[in-house]
Amino acid sequence: RLASLHSSTPAIQREGLGDFALTDRVAIVTGGNRGLGLEAALALSTAGSRVVYCLDLPEKPGEDWNAARQSLAKLDGAGRLEYVTNDVRDQKKLLQTVEEIATKEGRMDICVAAAGIAGAARPCLEYTEEELEEVYAVNLKGVFFSAQAAARQMHRFQTPGSIILLGSIAGSIALKHTPVLPYNTSKAAVIQMARVMACELAPNNIRVNSLSPGYIETPMTTATISARPEYKAIWSEQSVMNRLGKPHELRGIITWLASDASSFCTGSNIVVDGGYTAW
Ligand code: NDP
Repeated sequence: RLASLHSSTPAIQREGLGDFALTDRVAIVTGGNRGLGLEAALALSTAGSRVVYCLDLPEKPGEDWNAARQSLAKLDGAGRLEYVTNDVRDQKKLLQTVEEIATKEGRMDICVAAAGIAGAARPCLEYTEEELEEVYAVNLKGVFFSAQAAARQMHRFQTPGSIILLGSIAGSIALKHTPVLPYNTSKAAVIQMARVMACELAPNNIRVNSLSPGYIETPMTTATISARPEYKAIWSEQSVMNRLGKPHELRGIITWLASDASSFCTGSNIVVDGGYTAW
């Protein structure tokens, strides 16, 4: 019976299953030189993208983007990886950079807006205007500028596009042990931003979704754990899997969201958190 089912439904089997490949796609990833941005660049590159442009702040002492690029170049079949210095807070420069990339490559298909900062953790009664603005400038305005810059080029080249905004579970729940009101509120705005942009851009064949991870081991979280080691156990215990996630555990979902396999998914907030918010 299974054999006859197989032979009678070849088209159904093929539809959706072969759509993960990103052959010839051109992508930008903000915050792409480390953490989840770098992981996204790796995912898009290994899934066949022609080129992934990683937009990030200037290299700091001790960082070596060239070494990262060399190791990536060794991956079988991986596409080209380019690094471009660009602060996501600078809307004008971002629009110009992304326009130049699209002009050079002749298209723009994928944007992953991963640049983000945690900001200071303190009781909400103590936050200053400057501290709020610092976080909103990157996590809220910077994410919007990135999505806007990519969407303009997708529209200009009439390429069906996929835009993935890095939200967080912190955009949907308060973090009992970590008082970070600016971060929480910026991520809530990102989740809503994906919905609004999805509605407006659907007629242009551009999909916009937010991806909300739970705690993942990246330089952002390890910096907190170095200062406050007890946080690792606190964060792990809340997850039903009793651990933090690894960056590579987001590769599948990023590839899916970027690819035609998710062609009916837009305006959604996809949570990947090891069950942190399951209870
Ligand atoms: P990291 O701090 O490890 O990496 C963030 C990257 O963004 C860095 O490369 C950083 O550059 C870059 N960046 C910061 N500010 C700017 C800017 N103004 N312009 C351009 N690039 C900038 O963070 P993660 O990889 O952990 O996080 C990536 C995204 O995922 C963030 O939006 C974060 O909020 C979100 N997220 C992370 C989770 C986690 O547990 N790690 C959980 C949920 C969401 P530089 O190195 O020079 O500072």
